[in-house]
Amino acid sequence: MCLVTCKLQWYTMRKKREPLQCREERVQIMTIQEEIRKLKQEKNAVILAHYYVRPEVQEIADYIGDSFYLSKVAVGLKEQTIVFCGVSFMGESAKVLNPEKRVLMPDKHADCAMAHMADVETIQRMREKYEDLAVVCYINSTAELKQHSDVCVTSANAVDIVKVLPNRNIFFIPDRNLAHFVAEQVPEKHFVFNEGCCPVHQEISIEEVRQAKEAHPGAEVLTHPECPAALLEISDYIGSTSGIIAYAGKSGASEFIICTENGVRYELEKRYPEKTFYFPETEPVCHDMKLITLDKILHVLKTGDNEVVLDETLREESKIPLERMLELAGK
Ligand code: 13P
Ligand code: SF4
Repeated sequence: MCLVTCKLQWYTMRKKREPLQCREERVQIMTIQEEIRKLKQEKNAVILAHYYVRPEVQEIADYIGDSFYLSKVAVGLKEQTIVFCGVSFMGESAKVLNPEKRVLMPDKHADCAMAHMADVETIQRMREKYEDLAVVCYINSTAELKQHSDVCVTSANAVDIVKVLPNRNIFFIPDRNLAHFVAEQVPEKHFVFNEGCCPVHQEISIEEVRQAKEAHPGAEVLTHPECPAALLEISDYIGSTSGIIAYAGKSGASEFIICTENGVRYELEKRYPEKTFYFPETEPVCHDMKLITLDKILHVLKTGDNEVVLDETLREESKIPLERMLELAGK
């Protein structure tokens, strides 16, 4: 098929809201997916994927979810190998919680910029400055930051966990936007903020969201708490990716403007084909999440490359706040 025909078909499919691939591409994708499924069985492997990865990767995952769901699911899997379709902090957390398992990352360069936006020296300074301090570490962080923290949280459980902590002073790392969102819900605590943020959510244009609202006045705005406060203020619902997906199902509205990474479109359209989902004109894309491709999954399954390896002390110490999160979130 010539390129023009292929492109035309792509646009027609797009209009009909069908998968964004032309027929030939689709056949190629299905062939490689079949190979992955076979190899996965042979190698006793399981595939975990975050909602932000490419649709064709979500299609072959055994478990798809937000960071909290994936960290829970990673505990107690029967398979010996975990292929983690996400960014490094996710694979690291899976390894920390499952030392006996082999955790493979399809692309070892897929990293979360925000995971590095705090530092141990500042944590130590805050511990000296504030009595009764809890260092609350968003799971989007390096194992080293977790090692120096008291408890981990995700966007799905941060408010509930901070509420039940006995400490009055909270140093919340690395995300300032999520920290401000949590601080609003837990006014009885004193928050110390850190200057980290997710570049993808930070960059979502409020002006473009306003334009989308004008174009679709009946649409509800559903926003991830990694977004800046001014965007949260004009939103109808604020929550983690799984929170956004669940809310879209429960809401009586039939149109939504989605303010998070565009990978969630796959799950939203799969679950609610009768509803319509819009994104701001400049669609939020996490390029690191999009580094995960079928070819790379096949490669690590074949070769065992890109295994997550952690120093044992780092692993043992960063496990403490992660396990505390799982314990507190279960209460
Ligand atoms: P959740 O998975 O908690 O919704 O967070 C989004 C995110 O940015 C993951 O990297
Ligand atoms: Fe990190 Fe943002 Fe990408 Fe999530 S979307 S992995 S927070 S850079």
